[in-house]
Amino acid sequence: MNEAAKVESAGRNRELALQHLARLTARPLGHFIDGEPTEGAGGEPFDVLDPSTGQALGQVLGGTPEDIDSAAAAAKRAFPAWSQTSGKKRRDIVHAIADAIVARADEIALIESLDTGQPLRFMSKAALRGAENFRFFADRAPDAQNGLALPSADHLNYTMRQPIGPVGVITPWNTPFMLSTWKIAPALACGCTVVHKPADWSPYSARLLVEIAHEAGLPAGVFNSINGVGEVAGKALTENPDIKAIGFVGESRTGSAIMGQGAATLKRVHFELGGKNPVIVFDDADLTRALDAVVFMIYSLNGQRCTSSSRLLVQESIHDQFVAKVAERARKLRVGDPLDPATEVGPLIHPRHLDKVMGYMDVAKGEGAEIVCGGARHDCSTDGYFVQPTLFGRAQPDMRIAREEIFGPVLTAIPFTDEQDAVRKANDVDYGLAGYVWTRDSGRALRVAQAIEAGMIWVNSENVRHLPTPFGGMKSSGIGRDGGDYSFDFYMETKNIAVALGEHKIPKLGG
Ligand code: NAD
Repeated sequence: MNEAAKVESAGRNRELALQHLARLTARPLGHFIDGEPTEGAGGEPFDVLDPSTGQALGQVLGGTPEDIDSAAAAAKRAFPAWSQTSGKKRRDIVHAIADAIVARADEIALIESLDTGQPLRFMSKAALRGAENFRFFADRAPDAQNGLALPSADHLNYTMRQPIGPVGVITPWNTPFMLSTWKIAPALACGCTVVHKPADWSPYSARLLVEIAHEAGLPAGVFNSINGVGEVAGKALTENPDIKAIGFVGESRTGSAIMGQGAATLKRVHFELGGKNPVIVFDDADLTRALDAVVFMIYSLNGQRCTSSSRLLVQESIHDQFVAKVAERARKLRVGDPLDPATEVGPLIHPRHLDKVMGYMDVAKGEGAEIVCGGARHDCSTDGYFVQPTLFGRAQPDMRIAREEIFGPVLTAIPFTDEQDAVRKANDVDYGLAGYVWTRDSGRALRVAQAIEAGMIWVNSENVRHLPTPFGGMKSSGIGRDGGDYSFDFYMETKNIAVALGEHKIPKLGG
């Protein structure tokens, strides 16, 4: 693609995205309760910003506690019928949602890219991944209640699972559509009803999802969506007594606030939180493949990715040479309009997040780390929130840039001496979401994989998801697992039923 053609194509995509968005931005976007769009109980509107330009894309109404109460009441009313709908029927409806997502995948990808600043090349796949999430859980809906037979001498014990009730789902802004489907699809498939509170910085694709679900045949009240800020709408959702569980994806400190907010109503919680994930590169690794994976896993999705390998632990013997190669690639990354199909790194989501990420450039300087490349705002012709892909070199494990989640296109490289040193440094953070190991020594790969304190480890691989596998983190990175049957376990109660086989001896009291 030549330069002129790229601009043309980015411009055309922007035009299309704005056309799709027009009906959602014509007036402040409200909520979706009991199968209907509604403006709710008079919440204040707030601006949604275009990360590429800093201009407002539109306004959204901030959901109030009354709006949450209405949505939770609708979800409660819809629960008996939906939970008793046969698994096969639920499977068919959830598959129909997947079909409708595929049919509107281009529209979803364009709106998502415009709203979040995530490059279109990744968002088009994310929309389709959302459909796959629905299909995966749809296929399991008919068996969701199945349990175990646990016979004893006198009784037949058997377990079955039943959906827990109306649930709340609270999601972040980094890949909002895909992440929402990951939480909402299993809830619907197993018979729960849902109130969704999408991120206030990226609300638009959530509206598409709830509309698509109803057009595909989901009954009114089964899936409701309330816009608004976390401290008001999100908080009210976590405190509502009709909501039996909260599936949350976001920052660790928000997870801890939600745990407190949900305590009075004994809320069941599932947390997918932050990360500071290590990628460990030993000197015997396939360094060409390791380089591709390291660059991809920090600079894709603008580095706003929970499983990004944001700490590069490199064996001392190859440190300088490997870090130089990462820097060479980082300097060549195509930073620009997310709607340009050639763009590899787009703008950060919001000025507040930009300030946070840029703050770490000063932290790095103050801590004496080497800024191998980047370290500044990316020069562009708009007021968008672009930053240069950045690499900090020869960092020490006790530096803030080596311990705190930056959540931008910023990589911190730390040298290590041997296997023990690598494991010690990998584990020396509060987080424990994912880890990546690169070595040709299979024994070492297995030892290190077992020793890293993280919920998911990839050996000689970038993050490649397989939906039956458990997804989630240890330590400050989360509680619980998604994927496979794990999601159903969270959204369902396991019940044991014991049936006497004959006339076993019953203790006789009072007679
Ligand atoms: P955030 O915690 O600020 O917000 C997430 C959601 O929580 C938003 O919808 C927000 O409105 C809501 N919220 C905020 N305060 C709340 C409160 N007191 N009560 C209820 N809801 C509240 O997170 P973010 O900045 O939107 O997202 C980035 C974070 O998400 C990063 O830490 C990233 O690692 C994490 N994340 C984790 C995973 C994972 O699978 N582990 C996946 C994606 C993102």
